[in-house]
Amino acid sequence: MTAPSFRWTESGESHLVTEESPIPEETPPLVETRGLTKVYSLGKVDVTALKNIDFSLSEGGFLGITGASGSGKSTLLNCLGALDKPSSGQIFIRGRDISGLNNEEMALYRRHSAGMIFQSFCILPAYTAKENVALPLLFSEVPKKERLARADALLDQMGLAARKEHKPNELSGGEQQRVAIARALVNNPEILLADEPTGNLDSRTSSEIVGVLSELNRRQNLTVVMVSHEEGLLREHAGEIIRLHDGEIREHIRL
Ligand code: ADP
Ligand code: MG
Repeated sequence: MTAPSFRWTESGESHLVTEESPIPEETPPLVETRGLTKVYSLGKVDVTALKNIDFSLSEGGFLGITGASGSGKSTLLNCLGALDKPSSGQIFIRGRDISGLNNEEMALYRRHSAGMIFQSFCILPAYTAKENVALPLLFSEVPKKERLARADALLDQMGLAARKEHKPNELSGGEQQRVAIARALVNNPEILLADEPTGNLDSRTSSEIVGVLSELNRRQNLTVVMVSHEEGLLREHAGEIIRLHDGEIREHIRL
């Protein structure tokens, strides 16, 4: 038996370590940002889109991000999704810093860890719903039969069983967003990032789409970060809300 000893954990508590009482495992939060800052240089002018953003989000959480237009919501989401790189500060995903990844690593992270959906759906008009959902798997090793089977199952789950062979222009806005959600899920991401996903939808369809995200969060423990300028919509489903103002966290509300 190893001699008991004291060790310091990150939280600063000391623990007596013996074989019978090992250090309690500290699982890092799914997302943690430290001093996250993003400055865009436009010629001679610098625009600070994000300034010293610090927050953490546990696995299975539902974080809403709100704030006026231009407050930095999309920039923050794009940094979390590795579509953009912070100018300084760090973003840890399960304790791994993604802010210093190279382009190839960023692409892998986007493909395997972060599913993203957008206000404008961003599904391809020339392809059917099923082909759109299966598309991200084209770049993986998954055989075609399985790619289509996974797309099938996700479209069933999204309530689109009867719409699989339809092209986007034959689908309503809400249906197109469900296709986009299915596509975002096809690689089993660890986190779903949604940028104003209801921005092009009427209020009833908006509630339905947020309901879909909420169900994925509750039933499948999928971690969700959703940007919306409609705070009321977020309050119905999110566990916490960050309100941005001029690139800074103005308020972090725990619901
Ligand atoms: P929001 O999504 O809250 O409307 P954004 O994150 O899109 O805000 O933008 C935050 C600020 O950063 C704005 O002032 C915007 O003009 C600026 N910005 C965003 N993206 C870029 C970019 N690619 N180049 C230059 N400035 C940008
Ligand atoms: Mg935006």
